[in-house]
Amino acid sequence: EVRVRFAPSPTGFLHLGGLRTALYNYIFAKKYGGQFILRLEDTDQSRLVPGAAESIEDMLEWAGIPPDESPRRGGPHGPYLQSQRLHLYDQTARKLVESGHGYYCFCSHQRLELLKKEALRAGQTPRYDNRCRHLRADQVQEKLAQGAPHVVRFRLEAGVEPFQDLIFGWNRHEVAQVEGDPVVIKADGFPTYHLANIVDDHYMKISHVLRGSEWLISTSKHLLMYRALGWTPPTFGHLPLLMNSDGSKLSKRQGDIFIENFCRQGVLPEALLDITTNCGSGFASNRMGRRLEELISEFNPSKITTHSALLDLEKLPEFNRIHLQQRIEDEQKCCVLIKDLQQQIQQIYAAEIQDKEVLEGDYIRRVLHLRKVISATFALFLLSGTHSLGHITSLKELVSPTYSYLWVRPSLSIQQVAALTKEASHIASLVLRLIEGQGEELSVDQLAKDLKSLPKQTKATKYREVMKLLRLVLSGLQQGPSVAEMMVSLGPAEIRHRFQKLLL
Ligand code: GLU
Repeated sequence: EVRVRFAPSPTGFLHLGGLRTALYNYIFAKKYGGQFILRLEDTDQSRLVPGAAESIEDMLEWAGIPPDESPRRGGPHGPYLQSQRLHLYDQTARKLVESGHGYYCFCSHQRLELLKKEALRAGQTPRYDNRCRHLRADQVQEKLAQGAPHVVRFRLEAGVEPFQDLIFGWNRHEVAQVEGDPVVIKADGFPTYHLANIVDDHYMKISHVLRGSEWLISTSKHLLMYRALGWTPPTFGHLPLLMNSDGSKLSKRQGDIFIENFCRQGVLPEALLDITTNCGSGFASNRMGRRLEELISEFNPSKITTHSALLDLEKLPEFNRIHLQQRIEDEQKCCVLIKDLQQQIQQIYAAEIQDKEVLEGDYIRRVLHLRKVISATFALFLLSGTHSLGHITSLKELVSPTYSYLWVRPSLSIQQVAALTKEASHIASLVLRLIEGQGEELSVDQLAKDLKSLPKQTKATKYREVMKLLRLVLSGLQQGPSVAEMMVSLGPAEIRHRFQKLLL
């Protein structure tokens, strides 16, 4: 049975790199009918960030890749928080000591610091000199009886066997040659990452470990531990790193790579999933707009390459636009978008909205569908150089000031209108007639043309003033999208409503 896990430490919030690792695991599980497990590696108690554990699980759910087993959901191999599994690590460490693969180390902090300094002075990489390996059993017993502070170390053996990584192929790191024996249980009784990680992978029956390639060099050490414990190791696959498009490390340059930020900014989860896999490898195609089901069906682990994935976040709005469009096209999802927008509009414009008509589902649906149609033909508009409707890349834009005219009917004073022209009423009737002639679906180009001919039918009002008036009546604003664009967005019914007020 395929069982994979995402094992973040709640020492920080979920970011794009973590999301991508989780996603590959999720996809792998779903592709092969297996289980996706979330395990929180919270053994470094001093570095825990309050709220991170809950947030990580929230964000996986938000992203649409919820774990099958997790701290919140539970499962047959829980608990899924390492701090609640200390007895297992303890028991395993004891097993290592009893079988001669582990030993108690009483070296003081000062001694270790001294070793480190000496090594650095000699230009060498610091490593523990394995001194406590050689303590006699009675010395150990005596120190333990005295309650001397200690850690447990794992005895690194030479003769590492090569292992075949799913992505990086054959690998082997002679750890004993470069490292001192690693600590597996710290002085505070907590396990280190290496021990807790393999104990959990074993007891949680993990079949495949898919994790970032920064762990590749640790794998030989882990395999030595599996061997010492007589356990069968899982299969390993190390995912290439996720980097900025200029090759720099993701976390350093981009402050805003946290998933919660994207969520707050109105980025759609499917756009994030798409962009993080689009820049990587492992899929049949790299086209934009792939949904999770497609990612799963297109996934082929043997296609994952070893070079880093270069993430170009500048493309994110475009990914978001495409996925927003897909949601609008899907009636069920569109209803959710409408509800979401209704809430946002009410929150933002509560004080200014007098008529609930602008909050009606059909009106909002029209606005959304217009944006979709417009974006699909956006490229054409650009090419032909004609008037185009603004295309949105996120729902948030629709509630921004640019589009406030859609939701807030302007309240006009007679003076305001009169200051522009004496012919307001006449112009209003001209506009209404013009609209009657155009049917339900208005076109920006047609409107722009027709509006140009309006001044021919007025006596004293010039084109510029006509446009000013129209803009004022439509939006109450001096600036904003073109008049024709506003009219298309508002639709005939809403235009009628706004102009009828001017009729005498
Ligand atoms: N806790 C480790 C991390 O934060 C897990 C690494 C692994 O998947 O083995 O990345």
